[in-house]
Amino acid sequence: MTDDALTPDQIQQLRDRVAGLMPQVRADLEQLVRIPSVSASSFDQSQVARSAEAVAELLRREGLDVEIVQEGGRPAVIGHLDGPEGAPTVTLYAHHDVQPPGDDADWDTPPFEPTERDGRLYGRGAADDKAGVMAHVAALRAHSGQLPVGVTVFVEGEEEFGSASLPQILEKHGHRLSADAIVIADSGNWAIGEPALTTTLRGGVRAVVRVQTLDHSVHSGMYGGAAPDAVTALIRLLASLHDEDGNVAVKGLDEGTAAELDYDEARFREESGLLDGVDLIGTGSILTRLWNKPSITTIGMDVTSVDKASNTLAARAAAKVSMRLAPAQDPAAAFELLEQHLLEHAPWGAKVTVELEEHGSGFAADADGPIYDEARASFADAWGTAPVDMGVGGSIPFISDFVARFPEASIIVTGVEDPDTRAHGANESLHLGEFEKVCVAEAVFLARLGALQRTR
Ligand SMILES: [Zn+2]
Repeated sequence: MTDDALTPDQIQQLRDRVAGLMPQVRADLEQLVRIPSVSASSFDQSQVARSAEAVAELLRREGLDVEIVQEGGRPAVIGHLDGPEGAPTVTLYAHHDVQPPGDDADWDTPPFEPTERDGRLYGRGAADDKAGVMAHVAALRAHSGQLPVGVTVFVEGEEEFGSASLPQILEKHGHRLSADAIVIADSGNWAIGEPALTTTLRGGVRAVVRVQTLDHSVHSGMYGGAAPDAVTALIRLLASLHDEDGNVAVKGLDEGTAAELDYDEARFREESGLLDGVDLIGTGSILTRLWNKPSITTIGMDVTSVDKASNTLAARAAAKVSMRLAPAQDPAAAFELLEQHLLEHAPWGAKVTVELEEHGSGFAADADGPIYDEARASFADAWGTAPVDMGVGGSIPFISDFVARFPEASIIVTGVEDPDTRAHGANESLHLGEFEKVCVAEAVFLARLGALQRTR
């Protein structure tokens, strides 16, 4: 592999070609945004079918062999075009469904009427993720007639509705999606002018902890002071989950370190709405705490409400806790550590049971090797600056489905979003200047990947 497998002239040609394509790419994006393809079940699902058909047509026009597939959920689109003999293969992922628009009154312009203001295109799905769909189409157009790699495009129709039928789609059609590289265009960049690859996502565990101290509830005057109540015992138990600094105190959980990016406490306070005078919890850089260390939150409790309270020692109490995990942590192992901690810290011999409700894997990209090198180089070609590695504190559950199904593939998570995109919110928008760079990066990546194969 050599870094100059593609000449600066070839890269400039691709930049110019994409620049020439952008008006049509933009017009096609607007057509997609006009289709209100909300996958949530209370919305008109014929619109999701329409958007699947519109995406299928865009891919057919690029010469792909296209099929709309539906395995009990919303329609997804799979298209394929062979590359040169022996060339690597790439699968390009995006989704054509969108979140509900919410209240129209919260939008400055109607959600399904794409509108440009100050260099941004506003509309539901203008970024998440119809611009992801169009970035793939733009990359194909840039190589029209001479695709350097074999390409499969997979455009899901229910990402915003939990990807419930994705396992069945992968089971039935997965052989068509297998590739050397899988580009998932559903995340974003670090800032305007600062590209990023999303290389980590946290996993998660949700569990219910139940505490019982008495056979039945009893009068707090008669028995209080000698018998513990379950609510107080539960609170002490939950308090044991953090140390004095607010770090998770469950022993044995993995933790890592985030890349050093510009993100200060003032910005975090502003974005999170943290009240003046309330401390941040945990140690390490803020991004490390958000992306690479575990966190535990109490998200619900079954206790007597204040209104219905009486002078009683409660016999039972329960809480639901949500644990976020370092990206590479095995969630089943993390649950066992949590369960062990809770059983060992039962105060006053209280009877404690812990039940696993749900767990999901995180994602830690194997972000080295020739394919990742080409991806980083492509971003640098498009932006003039190398991409940073970014994490996401939440999960994108379908990514772990891909990792499990395609363990050999390099999975590259990209996207069109920036910190002002407001995906899922009112006034969602796409930065049009950044969007062109996303399209250039993907077009260059396909070329670099094709060249990589020829020189190795
Ligand atoms: Zn999305």
